[in-house]
Amino acid sequence: MRIACPHCGERSLDEFLYSGDATVTRPDFASPTAMDEYVAYTFERANPPGLHRELWYHAAGCHAWLVVTRNVSTHAITKVELARDAAPAAKASTKDAV
Ligand SMILES: [Zn+2]
Repeated sequence: MRIACPHCGERSLDEFLYSGDATVTRPDFASPTAMDEYVAYTFERANPPGLHRELWYHAAGCHAWLVVTRNVSTHAITKVELARDAAPAAKASTKDAV
């Protein structure tokens, strides 16, 4: 699999680190139900076939956080965007990850 980094161009998967689902947001640790929310956030994930928005880090390149839209059945990548330019749900995930 190859990922087209917006800064570096198409690069081998070996240069990137997968960081998880780009559509979930980390729960508020101050919430009274934080433990249950963190358990759900960490372990309770749907894994349907089709397109997923994933957070990737270009570790051996420009160090950019990317949101990659990928079909998990075929591994076909349909979109790569900088996390800072992605949808609000993805931005919240990257803010916590950086
Ligand atoms: Zn890059």
